[in-house]
Amino acid sequence: MSELSSIFSIDLAAFAEVETQADVLVVGSGTAGVTTAVELARKGLSVVILEAGPFVLPSHVGSTPFRSRDDLTPQINAQVRRKTSWISRDVYEEGTAPETNNDAWSAVGGRTLFWGGCAPRFADWDFSDWPFDCNDFAPYYDRAEKLMHVSGRYDKAPAFFRGKAQDEFLARLDASGIGGEHALLGVDTQEARNGYIPRGFDSSVDRLIRSGLLSKELESGKIVLIPNAEVEQIDHDGDQVTGLAVRDTQDDFNVNLSARHYTLAGGAIQSTRLALASGLKELEGKVGTHVADHLFVQGLFKLNAPVGEPIYAFIPPKEDRPYHVQIQGPFKDTWYSPYHATVWLDCEPDELFLLVYCFGVGEAVAENEVVLTKGEGGESPGLKDYVVLSDRTQSDLTILQQMQDFLPSAAEAINAKLVRAQVNPAGSALHEIGGLPMSADPEDGVTDTFGRFWKLPNLSVADSAAWPSQGSANSYLTITAWSLRHANGVAEKLPR
Ligand SMILES: Cc1cc2nc3c(=O)[nH]c(=O)nc-3n(C[C@H](O)[C@H](O)[C@H](O)COP(=O)(O)OP(=O)(O)OC[C@H]3O[C@@H](n4cnc5c(N)ncnc54)[C@H](O)[C@@H]3O)c2cc1C
Repeated sequence: MSELSSIFSIDLAAFAEVETQADVLVVGSGTAGVTTAVELARKGLSVVILEAGPFVLPSHVGSTPFRSRDDLTPQINAQVRRKTSWISRDVYEEGTAPETNNDAWSAVGGRTLFWGGCAPRFADWDFSDWPFDCNDFAPYYDRAEKLMHVSGRYDKAPAFFRGKAQDEFLARLDASGIGGEHALLGVDTQEARNGYIPRGFDSSVDRLIRSGLLSKELESGKIVLIPNAEVEQIDHDGDQVTGLAVRDTQDDFNVNLSARHYTLAGGAIQSTRLALASGLKELEGKVGTHVADHLFVQGLFKLNAPVGEPIYAFIPPKEDRPYHVQIQGPFKDTWYSPYHATVWLDCEPDELFLLVYCFGVGEAVAENEVVLTKGEGGESPGLKDYVVLSDRTQSDLTILQQMQDFLPSAAEAINAKLVRAQVNPAGSALHEIGGLPMSADPEDGVTDTFGRFWKLPNLSVADSAAWPSQGSANSYLTITAWSLRHANGVAEKLPR
């Protein structure tokens, strides 16, 4: 454990020596895990966060001196990133290691150390097949935006990108009938004054450290953070989870930990994978199914004339346009890479190229599922031992085509031309959902409307694995809001 990390976290061996039962064990320290942990600790519960990855940064990389350092930042990514596979069922051969084509991150803070900052809400109609109403969810969005310091929606937090060129851009998009808005970003734009210093990018590790709730001992109303602790198995008996088998990834030993309640917050794919590795599909056949990621078309526009200022415009979805577009730049000519998601901080105002990201609603059908690639015959599967089998549905193909057809008209509206477009593979949007879908009726899903497992009420899921579908909006804000709602459901069944 690094010296800095030893100030606010504890290693697994030291924790296991003191055999005390926590109120809640949370698996994962991204926004789902930390938001849940803080909410439950504030309600007086004792919480432990088990995080498979190491501590590498105390805040988002874009809020540190590593910002814009393309000689250093990729090295931080490389320490905590691994390759994953999202492939077609047709090419998958059982028993063979599938080719890798996507990425996953494991660290204290999870992907919130590196995310790109775009933080819109789902549209009201996106909740039409959720088992609760958009109005029911709205207060959680309000709270999540405040927690994450989302800028662009509130008077005290003006849009991060604002200026004449940005206004003209939006006016052009409006005049063309397409419509445009300031991008809502998880970057704090409140004024530095009277002791307040803006928080930069939202990151769960930053929120966790600032919360003042971290403790090295289990106590009511506090959180213990254990890095390098991978949960390998959820043990269960009848309708109760009885404990977690946890491996120390540095010293390679295992311990069993128990609590009154257990929360999965490993990100949708990992929460689902752990449920599968723990045999939960035998309790409920839908475990692992209904997985989706955003349909992701990436493009490059060339302006006909320089605009002279940075811009970040957002073309919102409509009920009959189930995708949105993010336009950033200008740049000299570049191409998005997930290892530099905050490239838009460093645009070159007099250049001509704009980066474009189009995210569309992917259909979460039963056939798209997480499958273990290891684990038969008593082997213990780990974080890497899975593949996502994912094929485009007819709806996916239609929306992908609509997005590609839309880009030239969006370019024209802002006095630019489309010079390049590419459909990225499933999984590459990093906005995955499903695997443990929620439902109002136990017959229809894996988890209830607060993410609690119908068949194991002392187990719940705080991340997007519980979502039955997605809107076009990038998922971070909605995961944060959902984990607040989830935490309320857990606390209700778990009085202090
Ligand atoms: C480069 C990049 C750009 C992005 N840009 C945006 C954006 O602009 N807007 C947006 O909304 N979203 C964006 N995202 C996606 C966003 O970061 C994720 O949706 C969000 O962070 C997911 O939060 P989470 O808590 O569900 O999971 P994660 O952040 O993935 O955290 C899960 C943590 O759980 C740990 N874990 C998993 N399994 C176990 C286990 N068995 N035992 C112990 N620990 C475990 C993992 O190690 C990980 O650290 C981006 C992501 C990346 C990587």
